[in-house]
Amino acid sequence: MCPSYLGKTGAQLFGVLGKDGKVNFITPLTVTEEFLELNKKKSNLEQRFRFTGKCAEKGCSQWNKEESKCSLSQKVQTLEKDRVQELSFCPIRSQCRWFFQDRENACFSCNEVTRNMEELLLSI
Ligand code: SF4
Repeated sequence: MCPSYLGKTGAQLFGVLGKDGKVNFITPLTVTEEFLELNKKKSNLEQRFRFTGKCAEKGCSQWNKEESKCSLSQKVQTLEKDRVQELSFCPIRSQCRWFFQDRENACFSCNEVTRNMEELLLSI
């Protein structure tokens, strides 16, 4: 599963940005048309929530074909953020692409990122 998925119908909502700027992970909820309608705002959905869905692998621009892995996980780890040192609850860990690749190191900065930040990382 991709932990940086678009907010669209059928995706799973699994994180909500808190006032402290960190993502609080929640038990996943399926995104519906009604949810999208209710949450239309000026800022992107992905700036306020985290979504997951099936990893597209070669169909995604972030996929490193030579190494057969998602390049974004490593980039998130280079963020100058307050990395935590222990694992906290994440409902998708057993299926997460980033955790599969980089284990705990993928998780230590994960609640600091939202998709729009991740998009900035693509230029690194
Ligand atoms: S990297 Fe870790 S914390 Fe982030 S979504 Fe994957 S399993 Fe959860």
